[in-house]
Amino acid sequence: MENYILEHFDEALKNKWIKVYYQPVVRTITGAFCGAEALARWNDPEKGLLSPAEFIPVLEDTGRITELDLYVLEQICQDYQMVSKRGNRVVPVSFNLSRKDLLHNDIIERIEAIMARYNVPRELVNAEITESAFVEDVEQIGPALKKLHELGYQVWMDDFGSGYSSLGILKDYSFDEIKIDMSFLSKFDKKARNILRSVVTMAKRIGVQTLAEGVETKEQYVFLYTIGCEKIQGYYFGRPMPGDVLEQHVKNTQQTVESLALHNYYNKISAVDYQTDAPLMIVERYDKKFHILYSNEKYTDVLYRDGIDSIQQWEAILNDPKDSMNHFHTMFVEHKLQQIGDEQVITYPRGDHYMELKGKAIASCEGHTAYQAELRYVAIHVRPSENDQLDEYLRDTYYMYSDMALLDLDKDEVVSIKSSIVEQPIGRHKVIYGIQNVMDTYRNHFVYPADQEAYDAFYQMSTMEQRLRQNKNGIISCYFRSKKNGEYQWAYNIAMALPQSDFRKVLLMVVHPGFDSEKLLDMLSRRKDWMHRGENQSTERKRFHR
Ligand code: C2E
Ligand code: MG
Ligand code: MG
Repeated sequence: MENYILEHFDEALKNKWIKVYYQPVVRTITGAFCGAEALARWNDPEKGLLSPAEFIPVLEDTGRITELDLYVLEQICQDYQMVSKRGNRVVPVSFNLSRKDLLHNDIIERIEAIMARYNVPRELVNAEITESAFVEDVEQIGPALKKLHELGYQVWMDDFGSGYSSLGILKDYSFDEIKIDMSFLSKFDKKARNILRSVVTMAKRIGVQTLAEGVETKEQYVFLYTIGCEKIQGYYFGRPMPGDVLEQHVKNTQQTVESLALHNYYNKISAVDYQTDAPLMIVERYDKKFHILYSNEKYTDVLYRDGIDSIQQWEAILNDPKDSMNHFHTMFVEHKLQQIGDEQVITYPRGDHYMELKGKAIASCEGHTAYQAELRYVAIHVRPSENDQLDEYLRDTYYMYSDMALLDLDKDEVVSIKSSIVEQPIGRHKVIYGIQNVMDTYRNHFVYPADQEAYDAFYQMSTMEQRLRQNKNGIISCYFRSKKNGEYQWAYNIAMALPQSDFRKVLLMVVHPGFDSEKLLDMLSRRKDWMHRGENQSTERKRFHR
């Protein structure tokens, strides 16, 4: 058989007895067709169908594998041209590289020449290299893979977990994706499942995508979906088949084909670690509707407690314009979560309890935006009257201060919470950039001329952090006169460093206590007496004057 293969290899290429078959790859969270693997098939007129297990090792041993692999790449490029010409969507295709290919010094140039001849973008072609290729000659294989990667090809590790140094290879070389070996699914016991869980989490932590090979059953698919494995390939979705058959197959089954534009978008969504203790949901918004892509068991438990029986019911509620939840969640995602990475938490009342919603925008593309959301049930066991009372006190505190603002020294912004000079409804904060500028403007318009020097010293932003640090409570304060209701009044200004902000976020509160200068002087002189009687006078005094 070996001799037969070697003697007929040229003929098999020339007469196209060797064909490229494509096996579909499916995006786990959407079920869309998002890629394919090119696999060689030798349909011999004399011997019938030869399996790769028969001819690949022979070609590898005799150094002829590279001809096959480049032939496969060329075939992929030709098929791309045909599919594009027919106006159909293309998906990235991966092809297999043998260890022997990478030992040729000119392999990259030969790959590049084929790609250029057919004008196929590099992002459409991924190179798979099996883990066991790394047993020897790594000093040659490593740089070649690096070069491919730098050129813009994705490099995937094939059959991850089948060899004996999987982790070491992963550590030393950069891969975009690992294809988890089928053996973990063929012996689908508890131990294998736990290994799969850990591999997926590990891969996400190091920024590598995961694909599970050899998915044959629905049970395996559901499990891989649950643990957040990003892509799947196997007989459950389709066997390797000729390109035109695959094209027809996709059409007949009306399967969604992932667009190239959305490919990276879904890669980002898939990169989220789904194996969390938090009640997690991934939801997509497009065409003004919510589409739930993923939810874990903890999330559905929370919904159940809130009186919602299924994730389908929840999706219907979220999309029902007559339901207040629809308005609320739409507002939250469209107005609060505007920037990618921006995380917000809000609490909203639902009957006798509250729900806490934590959200974050994770990716956005062509009118699609994906969000990660955590939902928690918050039970509040207080009598309504007590609750109301507490609310009232808190509101009063708000009114007791003339001004309240948060200074963010890093962003150099003033977040005004309450202002005595402009109309600002409760709960609506306002952000103004340039702290020093805000303070100077205020001084020019509202501070009593004789007190402006003291004001300037107190609001000198360049030394604010240092002065806060010097105080054991992280607080500094000062009195000066400023305008309130058209007249100058003594105002007590307090600046407090927020805990855990490393003195970079400062809460500013201004209160007008309503006393006159005499009373203030009287109070201060009495305090002077107390100080003489014991405390460390000089530091106290300095603090006051600051
Ligand atoms: P591979 O790259 O890991 O390819 C996946 C193999 O798993 C394919 O076998 C595919 O038909 C098979 N497979 C896919 N889904 C399932 C499933 O659900 N269940 C089971 N039991 N099997 C599944 P195939 O085509 O026989 O190829 C075997 C190996 O030969 C490939 O493993 C690859 O290493 C190599 N090979 C195939 N074509 C080429 C090629 O053009 N060049 C090189 N260098 N190697 C190739
Ligand atoms: Mg492969
Ligand atoms: Mg494989």
